[in-house]
Amino acid sequence: METKKKLKVSAIRNGTVIDRIPAGQLFHVIEILGLARGDFQMTFGTNLESKVLGVKSIIKISDKFFEEDDVNRIALVAPDAILNIIKDYQVVEKRPVVIPSEICGLVRCLNPRCITNHEPVKTRFTTRMTPGGLVLICHYCEKETGQKNLQIISNN
Ligand SMILES: [Zn+2]
Repeated sequence: METKKKLKVSAIRNGTVIDRIPAGQLFHVIEILGLARGDFQMTFGTNLESKVLGVKSIIKISDKFFEEDDVNRIALVAPDAILNIIKDYQVVEKRPVVIPSEICGLVRCLNPRCITNHEPVKTRFTTRMTPGGLVLICHYCEKETGQKNLQIISNN
């Protein structure tokens, strides 16, 4: 009985467990992935102990497997995150997120005069790691946007 109860809250049959989300970014991740608007069965935990992060959050989503764009969205706010792909209660893949060298259509340009804020042009940035963290450089206006100021375009 105890085992069964534990299984219900801690395991999912098929889906994705997003591990190693910084504790403060849990709701940000839920928002940018549009998870609150879906009809997904989802559980999450926050302020869990983590050797890597100190404290972390995790999200478990049943019957959900993420596409490339969503994985890149996760990388932007949780660069240490790992996606555990679950099939039939087994972890079949552990996939660390990677910040791609180019990011298209996921982030807004903060330059109000940038063409992407006036024309139906997909935003496009190259990424650079600096001592201060991730920086995105706009392909069109060369405006640099730091990680703290990222305005991520949510998944609809
Ligand atoms: Zn721009």
